[in-house]
Amino acid sequence: DRRIRETTGARELPGEPANRRFHLVQAAPVARNIGAEARGLITSGEGTYVVDENGRQLIDGPAGMWCINVGHRNEILANVMRDQAMALTYSTPWYTSNEPAETLAEMLSARAPGDLRHVFFTTGGSSAVETAIRLMQFYNNVRGKPQKKLLISRQGSYHGSTHLTASLNGRPRDHDWMDGVDLVRKLSSPSVFHGAQGLSVEAFEDHLVDEFRRLIEQEGADRIGAFIAEPIQASGGVLVSPANYLKRMHALCRQNDILYISDEVVTAFGRLGHIFASEDVFGIQPDMITFAKGVTSGYFPLGGVMVSARIFDELRKSDHPNATFVHGLTYSSHPIGCAVAIRNIELLEDGLLEHAREVSPYFQHRLKTLEDLPLVGEVRGMGLMAGVECVADPSAKNPLNLDLAVGKRIDFHCQQKGLLVRPLINMCVMSPPLIITRTQIDTMVAVLREGIASTANDLINEGLW
Ligand code: PMP
Repeated sequence: DRRIRETTGARELPGEPANRRFHLVQAAPVARNIGAEARGLITSGEGTYVVDENGRQLIDGPAGMWCINVGHRNEILANVMRDQAMALTYSTPWYTSNEPAETLAEMLSARAPGDLRHVFFTTGGSSAVETAIRLMQFYNNVRGKPQKKLLISRQGSYHGSTHLTASLNGRPRDHDWMDGVDLVRKLSSPSVFHGAQGLSVEAFEDHLVDEFRRLIEQEGADRIGAFIAEPIQASGGVLVSPANYLKRMHALCRQNDILYISDEVVTAFGRLGHIFASEDVFGIQPDMITFAKGVTSGYFPLGGVMVSARIFDELRKSDHPNATFVHGLTYSSHPIGCAVAIRNIELLEDGLLEHAREVSPYFQHRLKTLEDLPLVGEVRGMGLMAGVECVADPSAKNPLNLDLAVGKRIDFHCQQKGLLVRPLINMCVMSPPLIITRTQIDTMVAVLREGIASTANDLINEGLW
């Protein structure tokens, strides 16, 4: 049976057109999985590996979507899920609470930077960012500043797929064929590789901070509610900013009473070797931190927002006794998700964060060796997240024709040899489970090298490069 699956065109093999909108795949007559990228079925997982429908074992290069931090098939987490389901499957978050949610809230509050003592649990990253934005709106309404609502995000950012969060996104394709909301102003991406263009890194940093200062002057600080930033722009291509950029942007926010939302959906829970990276890695104490993914190592959909005591206390002491934050999700504070998160954090703190910190330099160093390949423009990253960007001419950093979908071509070749890659147009993202070993890193890099070399050959043979 053949069926039509709506797809963004992910399964094209080399030589097939890159942007077919509808794609025929061989499959049983099941309901249509709209939006799924048909890259083959994954049937099981174990540790750092997944197994596909053909029985092929693949290193899970992207750890699902940056999330399977403790690795696949962790029996401890599986048992916690079962035990919690048998004890209490659900309790409404509005009129009751549950023990796992209370314990997790305490654990997060003890680990978050500064005065981020409060947490609102959500179902994932988009709902966490939505919650943070609604909270900012509520906060400014209650404070008698109803005009202070503009949102500042950056080109290259990714904050989610709901209407408001997608409007914050700064990747052009997120806006193709979609309508955004008119509350968002975008600053440049802080990506040194793409943005510096002849400037020193320090001068580029000054330029970025000046741009923000000018925007504040132009729009007026009394109209800007929040600045939102991923510490490292993940889905934009693992874009790393100049060293003091985040600190200086944070200082501008403080000076102008603009809430700083650190979107740690990818970077928290071990990817950068710490539970939260904002303070431990980047030296900032944001007003809110959004998280998801790694909080349960992807075993259960859970996210949340850490909120500062400063904001929370202000809301409490407000002279609007009837002001209520009417915001709720059926699955907020889900006991199973919270129970998994508690045990997951314990696993992270029982050696896994340390392992991630220890193995990260090797991971970055080994991947960096790919820069000698003629197709590779830059390998960059931090911790256990890295992006390999392909260009037409590395010396001139000339961009490749994006329609060539080089990332997908590389992924295709790598899958033949035992590695799953996350293709991102002309890039490959690598963010493996934190349990990855040095030997597995060696294999990953060797296969990636072969995959990139084979792709280069294909492009030459097809007369495309
Ligand atoms: N923020 C960031 C930084 C993300 O990377 C993502 C997801 N990739 C989201 C928010 C949205 O999370 P979710 O897909 O769980 O809604």
